[in-house]
Amino acid sequence: PRSHQGRIALVTGAASGIGKAIATRLAAEGACVVVADLDLAKAQAAAAELGDADVAIGVAANVADAAGVQAAIDAAVLAFGGLDLVVNNAGLSLSKPLLETTEADWDLQHDVMAKGSFLVSKAAASVLIAQRMGGDVIYISSKNSVFAGPNNIAYSATKADQAHQVRLLAVELGEHGVRVNGINPDGVVRGSGIFASGWGANRAATYGVKEEDLGQFYANRTILKREVVPENVADAVYVLTGPELSRTTGLHIPVDSGVAAA
Ligand code: NAD
Repeated sequence: PRSHQGRIALVTGAASGIGKAIATRLAAEGACVVVADLDLAKAQAAAAELGDADVAIGVAANVADAAGVQAAIDAAVLAFGGLDLVVNNAGLSLSKPLLETTEADWDLQHDVMAKGSFLVSKAAASVLIAQRMGGDVIYISSKNSVFAGPNNIAYSATKADQAHQVRLLAVELGEHGVRVNGINPDGVVRGSGIFASGWGANRAATYGVKEEDLGQFYANRTILKREVVPENVADAVYVLTGPELSRTTGLHIPVDSGVAAA
């Protein structure tokens, strides 16, 4: 049988980029997947690419809104009969230097990524604990949760918040058999909506390279000299939530072609 056969997964921000690749991989491994994203039509379209309604459904959920998050978790339980795995992936990056970062920018970054993942983890944990069958919580954090870079104080601070949520929840949920792990991607340019929606132009200007050369620029500064694509992050989710790492919790795996190690 496939490793995730019959497991029920909810991925936030799964209509695009890394989240979509994660949802695709989990469905390919046999999971039933709830694609949660801001826009219902886009979430449903992404779910339809994974299979029929017995394989994947799309739901509209703003992760910064507790009622919306609860509705998405309820939809998973209603559609598939439970929940085993949740991926905190939804995010955005405003990517501004300190003096241009407004209070509203700070609040939005933290509402979506720090508060949003807290709300999703909390609503998911109540189901996982009640089911008494363990489970997995994954955070798509960032290399920026550990390492400083230019022009993204609000983004990086909230990624660091997510990284500590991983450690705190690993401790708190461990006795229920729930593992909590994180992934630190870096430089996912191709296929990422974050880069398409202005961050790419910002990064290109910051580093003095052409936007179309950004993927190669990121690849060149890594140890492996290989571009990171959404599917590489999905592979890490698959491994972290699979049976082989059943004694691993509270860990962050870099998916960055080695840039954080250099
Ligand atoms: P993306 O823009 O392609 O995907 C983000 C998705 O999140 C979008 O579908 C968006 O609609 C959704 N989203 C945004 N706000 C939301 C909200 N409030 N509620 C629900 N959904 C919401 O970007 P991506 O690169 O695939 O990013 C996915 C995650 O990976 C983010 O958390 C990002 O910070 C993280 N990440 C990306 C990179 C990279 O290099 N692209 C590096 C490190 C970390």
